[in-house]
Amino acid sequence: MNEKMLKFVDINQENPSKRDKIVRKVDFNEIYGEFINEKARKQSSRCSQCGVPFCQVHCPLSNNIPDWLKLTAEGRLEDAYQLSQSTNNMPEVCGRICPQDRLCEGNCVIEQSGHGTVTIGSIEKYITETAWDKGWVKPIEVAEELIQSIGIIGAGPAGLACGEELRKKGYQVTIYDRYDRAGGLLIYGIPNFKLEKHVVNRRIKLLEDGGIKFILNFEVGKNLSLKKLKEKHDAILIATGVYKPREVNIPGNNLKNIFPAMEFLTASNRKGLGDKVEMFDNGTLDAKEKDVIVIGGGDTAMDCVRTSIRQKAKSVKCIYRRDKENMPGSAREVLNAEEEGIEFIWLSSPKEFKGSDKVESLVVDRIKLGEPDESGRRKPLIQKNSEFEIKADIIIKALGFDPEELPKLFDEEKLQVTKWGTIKVDFDTMETNISGVFAAGDIIRGASLVVWAIKDGRDVAISIENYLKSVQNQKVA
Ligand SMILES: Cc1cc2nc3c(=O)[nH]c(=O)nc-3n(C[C@H](O)[C@H](O)[C@H](O)COP(=O)(O)OP(=O)(O)OC[C@H]3O[C@@H](n4cnc5c(N)ncnc54)[C@H](O)[C@@H]3O)c2cc1C
Ligand code: SF4
Repeated sequence: MNEKMLKFVDINQENPSKRDKIVRKVDFNEIYGEFINEKARKQSSRCSQCGVPFCQVHCPLSNNIPDWLKLTAEGRLEDAYQLSQSTNNMPEVCGRICPQDRLCEGNCVIEQSGHGTVTIGSIEKYITETAWDKGWVKPIEVAEELIQSIGIIGAGPAGLACGEELRKKGYQVTIYDRYDRAGGLLIYGIPNFKLEKHVVNRRIKLLEDGGIKFILNFEVGKNLSLKKLKEKHDAILIATGVYKPREVNIPGNNLKNIFPAMEFLTASNRKGLGDKVEMFDNGTLDAKEKDVIVIGGGDTAMDCVRTSIRQKAKSVKCIYRRDKENMPGSAREVLNAEEEGIEFIWLSSPKEFKGSDKVESLVVDRIKLGEPDESGRRKPLIQKNSEFEIKADIIIKALGFDPEELPKLFDEEKLQVTKWGTIKVDFDTMETNISGVFAAGDIIRGASLVVWAIKDGRDVAISIENYLKSVQNQKVA
């Protein structure tokens, strides 16, 4: 075993510094600092180079974590970067926003043995940021241009990863998006304090420089039907994500100042990007000096409460029907929210929005947890006569997302969907029931994670290439 490794007994676990809660909650900048070289090397050397590396097993991309940790410990950063980027199209994004506590780090063997996980995410970020600084991250250089073209609907991580993989092979790639900027939820969903926008824009520019064409403000279904788009390309990928907000069907739902999470977050992200946003500028979507309630317990809810705090809300409460242990959101994000002053009201379920024109309060039932349900989590049961009322000026619903009705939106009734509305694909090829039309990312999984979208994008690129080759062979024959 290399003598530089296995240092977890002598070297304590350390993460880059986190900005103090008082300082960080007055701006939208990222909250974690960066490792310096010496720290990154030392922290990498804590890895025990497991024969069966559970970090890698639990990484959706099967990132070769032990090897790039070893290379970092040895000071071979460029090699570490090359290895890391060989399985991941945006390691700088994953390093920042993957829920490592549930994936690689949560399964690290030295974490299990009580020594504290290797700080994989921060090291991944360090390696990739160094690579950008040193100019090791280069646009795609195509060895041989091919004439076949792929139209990708959706410039989120699934569409971008697939586009990059196919462009590397020489195919002509056009990515369409209905937004005015590429990046999907990386731009308009996830706030700056988790992922600053320049990190995403830098990636998009690199893809453009590598020959990928972006057509923005272009909504498939509105600007062109799926059928017509298909006539322009040899293959199509649908990577449109899931955007229909889940509703809370309780009395008072039609009162003013009750918003779905994405409306609130998009307005805030647009302001950060310097856009004019009427609903924000006139104060409607601005939490400043307001009593805010966010309903939900996932990562989107955490982003909403932490955005509200930064907008200088008077108070921010998060209502969640289970307890802290049963929250779906990342434990790290819940801790960050708690530190920043968010009040969590666990075991509570919304019963009624109250107000005359605008919402003024939320009536809430207390919950007790019963036996585990089909998801394995304990079932929330309403306690009789337990209701109480909380004052609110603005309420944000962060209860998750469902797919839009794509066959209707795309004017393609033949496109098959599952009972959940996600696109039905053959799981071996990710092809839909329409030949030459593939799908990937949240639109086949339901709301998921960036790392899974990247994985899908990479997998579907292989299938699309196989399909294009088979079509070409048929033509030659
Ligand atoms: C608030 C929030 C916070 C999150 N935080 C995290 C996190 O911290 N870590 C993590 O791993 N994951 C997080 N996620 C989940 C993650 O962002 C998604 O799983 C991921 O972005 C899915 O990628 P995708 O490419 O499938 O879809 P998206 O990123 O949603 O991209 C889809 C794109 O398709 C475009 N589109 C849709 N319909 C059309 C159409 N008809 N025509 C043209 N374009 C269209 C959209 O405009 C969009 O740009 C978060 C999600 C949300 C909502
Ligand atoms: S599980 Fe932890 S100790 Fe083992 S190889 Fe992965 S990072 Fe290293």
